[in-house]
Amino acid sequence: MNQMQIQDEFLVNDPSPNASLAIRSSWQWIFIESLLSGDCMKTHRADILENCVSPTALYITRNLMLRSIMVAGLGLSVLAHATLAHDRHTRNQPPGEAKTHEHAQGVVFHDENGNQKRDPGEKGLPGFKVSNGREIVLTNADGEYETHVSDDTIVFVIKPRGWMTPLNRDKLPQFYYIHKPAGSPSQKFDGVKPTGPLPASIDFPLMPQEEPEQFKALLFGDTQPRNVQEVEYMAHDIIEQVVAEKAHGASLGVTLGDIVFDDLSVFQPHNQAIALIGIPWYNVLGNHDINLDAPNDTLSDETFESIYGPNYYSFDYGSVHFLVLDDVAWQGATETARGFYKGGLGKDQMEFIRNDLALIPKEQLVVLMMHIPLVDVEDRQELYRLIEERPFTLSMSAHTHFLKHHFITKEDGWMGPEPHHHIVNVTVCGSWWRGAPDELGIPHATMSDGGPNGYSIISFDGTKYDLEFRAARRPADHQMNIYLPQEITVADAMTTTMVVNVFNGSQRSKVRMRMLPDGPWKDMERVEGMDPYYVDMKKLEAGPTPVAGITLPSPSMTDHLWRILLPPTLPVGTHMIEVETTDMDNQVYTDRESIRVVAIPAPTSTRPAFPGRSTTLTIPPRRP
Ligand SMILES: [Zn+2]
Ligand SMILES: [Zn+2]
Repeated sequence: MNQMQIQDEFLVNDPSPNASLAIRSSWQWIFIESLLSGDCMKTHRADILENCVSPTALYITRNLMLRSIMVAGLGLSVLAHATLAHDRHTRNQPPGEAKTHEHAQGVVFHDENGNQKRDPGEKGLPGFKVSNGREIVLTNADGEYETHVSDDTIVFVIKPRGWMTPLNRDKLPQFYYIHKPAGSPSQKFDGVKPTGPLPASIDFPLMPQEEPEQFKALLFGDTQPRNVQEVEYMAHDIIEQVVAEKAHGASLGVTLGDIVFDDLSVFQPHNQAIALIGIPWYNVLGNHDINLDAPNDTLSDETFESIYGPNYYSFDYGSVHFLVLDDVAWQGATETARGFYKGGLGKDQMEFIRNDLALIPKEQLVVLMMHIPLVDVEDRQELYRLIEERPFTLSMSAHTHFLKHHFITKEDGWMGPEPHHHIVNVTVCGSWWRGAPDELGIPHATMSDGGPNGYSIISFDGTKYDLEFRAARRPADHQMNIYLPQEITVADAMTTTMVVNVFNGSQRSKVRMRMLPDGPWKDMERVEGMDPYYVDMKKLEAGPTPVAGITLPSPSMTDHLWRILLPPTLPVGTHMIEVETTDMDNQVYTDRESIRVVAIPAPTSTRPAFPGRSTTLTIPPRRP
């Protein structure tokens, strides 16, 4: 089992590590590869040769070539290749694959009166991007585009800087048209209703908006309510705070998957709660957002698509390009085995990413958003090759329900000049809304790394970004826990360790401490281990007194702990210790904790058990 499988206790998983990744339409990909390598002409298969010279393909290719001249220097030849290859299918369709093939057309237009219909005089917008999930085409001088669709395609506009798509009541961006003439197959949770024949024109209304270079976005890791009761936990624990702080001035928000917890009927009440924040909200598909009764990956996103649209897409805001990915590769159930998922993108999505990035200038920051951490995505090397030469990339996920900053280097096959930063974001539901309820009846939901549940605020400024952690129902400066015994003797001071958990800390953080009011600063040592407070809570659960709430997951190893021995000569009295952390963005936070030093220890029987005062770390041995 890999780490991902160990961390998420709710996975439906196949223990077999060798089960292969689902590849959608892999036979189509063979066509592309053979085309690019010239193998097409070497094969003796009549169907391939015939398809190589499809008149439609040539027409589309020529059409795209002409358009590519309009955007010189953006590498549109990939579009032509992709189009050609895509057009060449229809033979030997695997069962369950799209059967028909039609041309879709429409207009991207300036919706001056905001009624989402094209009225006389409303101008088409030239050079705007529209995708069918693989290829991307650009609108012509009149804002018109043409692409092709199967009977299971979502056509979407890639929101450019300075323009906004409509939002629905729940603040979900309406940037797509679903073409599933027969609707989704019957599954436990409803998918897309039959959309009927292709309309004569699929039009995308856009309205202009100000998008400054500096802006903020809210990042929600797994919100993951099991039911509507847990939607209420989220509303009271997180959303009220976000609303009170005016959405922190963010221009948009994203949930990084596991929006719900297998019960897809919870999507709607969940969306209504999120909509209270009042800003456009984008969504990433998680492994608990899929149709678990689906026989394959393609059909596992039907309910998600009916509510949020395409399972992967991209958009611009300000000067940042966001790529929203679906890295949940569902291996459908068979008659003899349960379904399970793996981290993977698949060939179609990789083709979309390739085409998408070909149109994004190198000097633009690209932010990739996914659910399963990038380091657990099977075909990540292919993705690395697409992004590692770019000077400005960042990626983020959630899924593990603990916070971690990865700096991906050549050890994982990354070949870029600088390590790639991948953020595993804090989750809104913490540890799946587990743990004892607090005074409001909401589980404390502490994550297995000892950090509180919460969310992140990311600030962008050109190609720079800055991540701020926020704990649920806590002030902005609640950034760490300091673990100290309540009371020690003078003699104990020499051997007493202080441990600090900096929730959003990373290997690039610096942490130091001093005795107030004027002791010298001392650097603390970063260690990997388990949060002592969390370990204590697990001990309480295992003790004779029952603990309310759903039991917590096992503690995880975390790399954002620091430790130091106390100054050896602390006089009798009560002392205040200050800890300061400076994160990779040079944000500085401080916190304080008191400790009492006595000459003779008080009788232990007078002190109640107090979790969180232990500083015993379960850590690998200290290096000599
Ligand atoms: Zn997950
Ligand atoms: Zn989750």
